[in-house]
Amino acid sequence: MSLFDKKPAAGKQDAAEAANAVTVSPSGYDLRPISDSLKQTRAEGLTAEERRVLLEHGTERAFCGHFNDNKKDGVYACRLCGLPLFRSTAKFDSGTGWPSFFEPFDASHVRNISDYSYGMIRTEIRCRRCDGHLGHVFNDGPKPSGQRYCLNSVSMAFFDNGQPIPQHVDAA
Ligand SMILES: [Zn+2]
Repeated sequence: MSLFDKKPAAGKQDAAEAANAVTVSPSGYDLRPISDSLKQTRAEGLTAEERRVLLEHGTERAFCGHFNDNKKDGVYACRLCGLPLFRSTAKFDSGTGWPSFFEPFDASHVRNISDYSYGMIRTEIRCRRCDGHLGHVFNDGPKPSGQRYCLNSVSMAFFDNGQPIPQHVDAA
C-alpha cells in the first residue's frame, strides 16, 4: 500500500465535499463555475494580450496596467464573469507597478493555487467562478493582513460605488 492508496479521513472528506457544495458566497454571490461556452463568449471582446493574461495565466508588464494609478472609490470585479474581487478601500500603493490590495472583497471569491513556474514558488490567484487568472498573492503586504494581492489590470473591470455590477453566469 502506497501513500496514494490512503483514503482521507471521513471527517475531512465530508468537509471538503461541503466546501465544494457551497454555491453562494458569504457576501451573496453565485459561486457555481460558469460554462466554457459562456467563458468563450465573454472572452470574445478581449485582445490577444488580454486573453494571454486571463486565460493562459500570463502577467502584464509593470506600470502598464490602467488600474495601477486608479484612486476612485468602488469595486474591482472579474473582467470575465463580474464576480466582485476587491474594494478600492483595500487598495494600496505597493510601488511594484501592479494594482495591489491587502484583502479580497470576499475570501471565497478568489482561489489560491501553488505556482512553480519561472523557478519560483508563488501563489497564483484565480477567480473562483470562472477560473480566470488574476495575479499572485504574497506575504509581504501591509498589516494587519500582511497580504499583498498583486493584480493584472486586464483581469478586472472597475465599478464606481453604487453602480450595478453585471453578473455573467449561466442561465439556470
Ligand atoms: Zn470570474
